[in-house]
Amino acid sequence: MSNKNSFEPLEIVKTKESLHQHLQSYRNDRLRIAFVPTMGGLHQGHIALINHAKTLADMVVCSIFVNPTQFNDPRDLEKYPRPIEKDTNMLAQAGCDVLFKPEVEEMYGQDEQWHINLGHLDNVLEGLHRPGHFQGVTQIVKKLFDAVQPDIACFGQKDFQQFKVVEQLVIQLQLPITLEMCPTVREPDGLAMSSRNVRLSENGRKQALALYQTLLQTKAGLHRKSIRTLRDDAINMLENNPGIRLEYFAIHDTESFTEADSLVKNQQLVALVAAWVDGIRLIDNMLLT
Ligand code: AMP
Repeated sequence: MSNKNSFEPLEIVKTKESLHQHLQSYRNDRLRIAFVPTMGGLHQGHIALINHAKTLADMVVCSIFVNPTQFNDPRDLEKYPRPIEKDTNMLAQAGCDVLFKPEVEEMYGQDEQWHINLGHLDNVLEGLHRPGHFQGVTQIVKKLFDAVQPDIACFGQKDFQQFKVVEQLVIQLQLPITLEMCPTVREPDGLAMSSRNVRLSENGRKQALALYQTLLQTKAGLHRKSIRTLRDDAINMLENNPGIRLEYFAIHDTESFTEADSLVKNQQLVALVAAWVDGIRLIDNMLLT
């Protein structure tokens, strides 16, 4: 649906004010704006979001912002890849219209406070293992939504719980934004694409495949084994892999995001995993039903 021809250059804006000015003419013409927030270190998973966004709207805004408030490990924040030239080229080639790339000072004042009640989403799996992470995510997503004021925002299934959290943000604050979840893009061997994968050693890269293989095995066993056995088998498989330090493996109902104990008719289940490989924290998930 995007009406932009792919030879138009990518517009790079760094301030909320210039973004507002740039988007005003589109808004005046009642054109639909789709938004893809990222932290950069772009790969084909991000580009799939841009491509999907293009099919839904007249123009696409992508943001690159490594958000400090969602990192609970300062070393992870410091080591987060920032290949801005490569990222910019990828976005231009994908036909993205605007890149919003603010500095931290543009997005945060001093001593800002933020809290939103995310219920149990804040206390399980990613919420439990990364305290404060989803408060940081919702804080920056709200700021970015305010700056872009998109009609549609696209997020990846790769961060399944994050999608549920952003859904809560939109519902609670009654934001007029349609959320789209796009499937996880994988490497040919099945490893979920992630900006952090570039930090894996050759050996770690091979070991990381166990996450995908365990998810596949869980899905394959769905109608043969109980949910509890599926989960125990997956945990055993990952815990017995010397290259992997498992943080969690869980099977949840996609709607309520509570742990499933049996398969109920018409229920959608998702298996989710987080583990450390080579000192790098990886997450993945797979819809089972
Ligand atoms: P990030 O830059 O990691 O914060 O991710 C930005 C967006 O891209 C989020 O909505 C992610 O869920 C999404 N994303 C990251 N990796 C993938 C992937 N492999 N496939 C699909 N979407 C992804």
